[in-house]
Amino acid sequence: MRIEEDIKLDYSDVLLKPKRSTLESRKEVRIERRFKFYHSPKIWEGIPIMTANMATCGTFEMAKFLAPHKIITTFHKYYSVEQYIDFFKEFNNPNYIAYTLGSRDEDISQLQEMIAQNLIDNFSFICIDVPNGYIQKFLKTITLIRELCSEHIIIAGNVVSNEMTEEIILAGADIVKVGIGPGSACTTRRMTGVGYPQLSAVIECGDAAHGLCKYNTDGSKKGVGLIIADGGLVYPSCAAKAYCGGADFIMSGTFFSGFEQSAGETVEKEGQKFKEYFGSSSNKAMKEFYGKKESHRASEGRYTLIPHKGDLADFLQDLFGALRSTGTYIGARKLKEFPKRATFIRVNRQLNTIHEKYTQGN
Ligand code: 5GP
Repeated sequence: MRIEEDIKLDYSDVLLKPKRSTLESRKEVRIERRFKFYHSPKIWEGIPIMTANMATCGTFEMAKFLAPHKIITTFHKYYSVEQYIDFFKEFNNPNYIAYTLGSRDEDISQLQEMIAQNLIDNFSFICIDVPNGYIQKFLKTITLIRELCSEHIIIAGNVVSNEMTEEIILAGADIVKVGIGPGSACTTRRMTGVGYPQLSAVIECGDAAHGLCKYNTDGSKKGVGLIIADGGLVYPSCAAKAYCGGADFIMSGTFFSGFEQSAGETVEKEGQKFKEYFGSSSNKAMKEFYGKKESHRASEGRYTLIPHKGDLADFLQDLFGALRSTGTYIGARKLKEFPKRATFIRVNRQLNTIHEKYTQGN
């Protein structure tokens, strides 16, 4: 047994220190980015935000809505090849969609079928999503998929530590998905005791990924390893903190669920409208999409009803505005400059708690 004593942080444990800035308006802050990749020869431009590959937001409807905003929809794993054939009759914007699969034999078979049907080139991204990226077989799956899809931008995860981040990139992924347990519909920490404070995971994995750099034969930089901060974003400020910590992309279910454009049933209770939000390994998802919960599995996801949030367009405007505002406070002209300009202040939670108790008591 070992105990690691150094402090690990969540988004709520820090604030950003304001810095002298020559920016005059938040309009001047650019939140689009352009990326080159470690393996894939593609170049991607857009707003580095992705939906989670969850049933409530990783949908065809969401992709149609988000692609014009230059945001990526990571599809859930439950669409069939036939459903994709229908979808691509009316959608053609590879840059802003990701095909998701797991590491089971059925997942690889469906990918092969997608390749055989010439459907996979309709996606720039392929996301290999497993709850536990530490299983050795996962690396073999990544290498196999890199061989099958040499040009695609491959995302793989989830992990929370530097050594696995490096291994995943070296095995064939371009982007590592970081986060175990921070998701709002996730009960992994409660059920298994496993997890890692999310901001520290992002800082440490980002540092490892960015340290891996590939060069072209002429000596120019081909691309570096990248990461996604996946899950645990509650407010727009969490996204800003993730970018400041070194996230290249952010991924969220919370930011894209509960809206008019989101999937999930709308429920009315005592005159108030709610919408379903549930984890990918909740009992509901396992029964609805796989027909059953296997006997060796415990649910590590929650089912919740969240208050209806209205139009996603309004939230996106707030999110983009908030990110630009963070840029003006810390003096960053581009999202790319956020980590260089960021100084995190640790917020002493214990003191806050005492303060809250004191003010409540009075
Ligand atoms: P949120 O935006 O809700 O905070 O986090 C979304 C992320 O939570 C997803 O991208 C995924 O990584 C994770 N997630 C989604 N469903 C489940 C689940 O059922 N169990 C666990 N452990 N994580 C989940």
